[in-house]
Amino acid sequence: MSHPDWSKLAEQKIAAVRAAQVEWAALPIQTRIEKLNAAKLAILARGEELAQLISDETRKPLAEAYSAEVLAIGDIFGYWLRKGPDLLKPRKGDVPSLEMPGKKAWIERVPRGVVVCISPWNFPVQLPMRTVAPTLLAGNGLILKPSEVTPKSGAWLVARIREVIGPVIDVMEGDGAAGAALIEAMPDAVVFTGSTRTGRKVGVMCAERGIPCEQELGGKDCAVVLADADLDRTATGVAWGIVSNAGQNCSGIERVAVAAQIAPQFIPLLVKKLQETAKDVPELVTPMQRRIVIEQIEEAIARGAQVLTGGLPIGDAPIPPTLLTKVPRDAMAWKDESFGPIAVLEVHTSEEELITAANDTRYGLGNSVWGHNTDHATDVARRVVSGMVWINNHSFSAALADLPWVGTGDSGTGMTNSPDVLHLLTRPRLYVVDSNKDLEPWWYPYGPKLLDLMRVLVSRQQTGGLGATLRTLSALKARMKEIKS
Ligand code: NDP
Repeated sequence: MSHPDWSKLAEQKIAAVRAAQVEWAALPIQTRIEKLNAAKLAILARGEELAQLISDETRKPLAEAYSAEVLAIGDIFGYWLRKGPDLLKPRKGDVPSLEMPGKKAWIERVPRGVVVCISPWNFPVQLPMRTVAPTLLAGNGLILKPSEVTPKSGAWLVARIREVIGPVIDVMEGDGAAGAALIEAMPDAVVFTGSTRTGRKVGVMCAERGIPCEQELGGKDCAVVLADADLDRTATGVAWGIVSNAGQNCSGIERVAVAAQIAPQFIPLLVKKLQETAKDVPELVTPMQRRIVIEQIEEAIARGAQVLTGGLPIGDAPIPPTLLTKVPRDAMAWKDESFGPIAVLEVHTSEEELITAANDTRYGLGNSVWGHNTDHATDVARRVVSGMVWINNHSFSAALADLPWVGTGDSGTGMTNSPDVLHLLTRPRLYVVDSNKDLEPWWYPYGPKLLDLMRVLVSRQQTGGLGATLRTLSALKARMKEIKS
């Protein structure tokens, strides 16, 4: 389809979801919860079919399709359907009763309207789910733009929900131009997950149109292995962080900084664990990604890197789990996102150097610190710059709906999961009901008693106390007399 066709389709889809959203938002939240719960059960009843579809589309092992995607559906829906009513409850506003008597204020969280969710290919169900559940629960409509590389899983998810709740959710399959057309069609909010490059473009498009937008972008996570790390658990966990989903994780471990004291034991163990994973590592999802990773390995080797395990693939074989060391800091494998089963390793003699190594990146999604003394590891973690830091684990919290998934720097300022996302998916609406029958002291006509009152109020802000309250009452009385005279 050409670009003008995308525009028309995007406008039609936004209009249709917008129309359905009015009715959806008007339903009591309990009814929305019942319907979304029915959608959740309908999806889980066909969990095997979905896991297979995801595995076929992304090549990830069926176990990973289950653990990272299908299970996430139940968990994420479960959290929002349980906690949502409390999180969306109106909040009472604080209004000072002395100088502003008779007023009651509250703040409701109202849906934005139509939310567009643009997703990448690496987790084609879990990533949209993190937005779908809170968006719909809050009374919005949603249009999902899955990656053209993995359109089927996202479309399947939307179709199952739509069968239960109706046309308040839709999907727009297509390439980047389809995503851009959706933004041009003026949704009320955009949640983008993807590369830093595209995220910047989407951010500019949204800013130009005044559309609130959050962007979750790439990463270059580092595992910091302290001298007292538990060798076996750390090596196994770090290997999983490097290799799971064939390394195509925004928070995959792509750098490892190891304390010199533990390096002689840790490095061979990590190498062994990586070699053991080789049979479970599929080919990368896109040929372009394969080329990027191969180029990074080639450049690193050409610039003197040492291959600890793996290296360039033989022929068309999948890229093997790869660990490189002595990689210059300005080589692509150190500074750019790899998004493949490779990592670069450095050994350092001080914790200061380990922390500096972890922070030597423009990204800031996640990092992990591994050490037996968790208090000390937490102190180190506080000095590492990223949206998330795991102590003795890595990245597993992606589908835990209460915990923010958030970055900084080139990883974007956006967030999914956690109550904080309601800031984007809803807007606060203020109501104030005034039962005061009197005129207000700050209304016209102005006069000297108003100024007196203002001075007394400022003085009260400084001192507080009963005397100040009595002086305020007296100044108020004088002012009211002045207004009525
Ligand atoms: P891209 O940025 O290429 O694409 C992301 C989505 O944006 C896709 O649906 C894509 O469509 C769409 N898109 C492309 N161009 C535009 C445009 N101009 N306007 C609107 N939408 C557009 O990312 P990838 O799909 O390659 O995913 C990999 C990236 O995602 C990595 O950098 C990874 O780190 C990041 N990511 C971040 C996560 C996080 O939580 N921080 C989680 C997972 C991944 P299409 O694919 O059809 O071209």
